[in-house]
Amino acid sequence: MSDCIFCKIAAGEIPSVTLYEDEDFRVIFDIAPASKGHAVLLPKAHAANLFELPEETAAKAILVAKKVGAAMMEVFGCDGLNVLQNNGEAAGQTVFHYHMHLIPRYAGDGVGISWKTGSADMDALKVKAAEVGELIKKAERK
Ligand code: 5GP
Ligand code: ZN
Repeated sequence: MSDCIFCKIAAGEIPSVTLYEDEDFRVIFDIAPASKGHAVLLPKAHAANLFELPEETAAKAILVAKKVGAAMMEVFGCDGLNVLQNNGEAAGQTVFHYHMHLIPRYAGDGVGISWKTGSADMDALKVKAAEVGELIKKAERK
């Protein structure tokens, strides 16, 4: 996509500090980090979000996250590492080219990745569970 910043960064057309690159992915340090060492993993081929990502790329992405994340844990000496990604504006996505955040965490760092807990209506959710199951079966029959 010609107007996508992450396409340009992934292709090396816009400079970035790259900590990992292969045929399909580039992992760069985030320009506005949540913590020291915050990185983002970008596929080189444009996909807006997880649901547009080809299955093969989605599977490879988690393997790259595992490999790069393990090295980051050692290099940054962090105590943990959040692997997360946002799909859609309502979920906090601001760049509409799929990416996975790798966020090193340090004990007591105060990085605010959290949510308020509510209560679950398990009877209503049983109906939703069945709907999800049916939809997946339908998609798999195609
Ligand atoms: P999102 O909110 O879409 O999940 O995350 C987008 C991330 O991309 C943010 O953490 C933001 O700081 C980062 N980002 C946006 N533009 C650039 C850029 O030009 N260079 C780099 N390195 N990171 C960027
Ligand atoms: Zn893109």
